[in-house]
Amino acid sequence: SAPVSIVAGIGNGARHGVLVKGGEIMENLAKVDTVVFDKTGTLTKGRPEVMDIHTISGDENELLRLVAEAEVISEHHLGQTIVKEAQKRGITLVNQPKDAEIIEGNGVRVTVENKTLTVGNRKLMAAKDIVIEESMESYAVQREKAGSTAIFAAIDGVVHGIISIADQIRPEAKEAIQELRANGVKQIIMLTGDNRHTADLVGKQLGLDHVHAELLPEDKVAWIKQLQAEGHVVAMAGDGINDAPAIATADIGLAMGEGGTDISMETADVVLMADRLDQFSHAHALAKVTILNMK
Ligand code: ADP
Ligand code: MG
Repeated sequence: SAPVSIVAGIGNGARHGVLVKGGEIMENLAKVDTVVFDKTGTLTKGRPEVMDIHTISGDENELLRLVAEAEVISEHHLGQTIVKEAQKRGITLVNQPKDAEIIEGNGVRVTVENKTLTVGNRKLMAAKDIVIEESMESYAVQREKAGSTAIFAAIDGVVHGIISIADQIRPEAKEAIQELRANGVKQIIMLTGDNRHTADLVGKQLGLDHVHAELLPEDKVAWIKQLQAEGHVVAMAGDGINDAPAIATADIGLAMGEGGTDISMETADVVLMADRLDQFSHAHALAKVTILNMK
């Protein structure tokens, strides 16, 4: 009978590390024609590393120290990557940050050593009336086109350098995307808060149909709603706090089990326990077979 095969399908998923929270979800998963991925931590590994530091003074460890002292307040993976890099280089963080301000999806502004540190993306620099010189901008674009996220570091309103951070694409991502397509998914889309150069590069490397970058959490939700209004059944996979609203809006929400935040896992219909994207494409294939067997 129908319920038995769905339960069997869920059990099969569980054995392969996919937590599906109910039978209805298997049915909806089989109907998905549009898959949306977040980039950082979902299509990529979520283990970013500092690639290089570019400064106007030439003293990269000095800039790194100040920026790390500012980013100590951040729970963002980019902020934590910078703090870790300082530790890796044996740089001692001496100053206590003051007047810390976290600008969600953009960066941080903190007083360190009586200097105002503004660390983040272009939107943040613009919001704080900080001018990005032509040479800094072209350096940033060059790093972004090579796949890094360029983080601007301003001291007292002047950009002193750029810290480039990159994350690798998950090795199984391409195969998972191929399997989704082979099983009838019509379009695969990326929604990210990261810059458009890096987003486009990852999109091209994975052969995605559409890439939308520099988005805030509410923009991700708006895109999901737009796709649904066009009549698509949408699955959304993400990992961050940022992604929870979009995961909740999608017909099927998926969260990464290992690198994912608690809030994204709670919100999701499906959790990829072992943090692998091919679990998703297998689960989708399995849902299709399970539902077909019921008919
Ligand atoms: P994602 O969608 O990739 O998870 P976010 O929305 O969290 O991205 O962040 C968007 C962008 O804001 C980042 O790519 C980065 O440029 C900037 N940003 C956010 N938080 C920080 C931080 N603590 N330090 C530096 N830059 C940050
Ligand atoms: Mg993410």
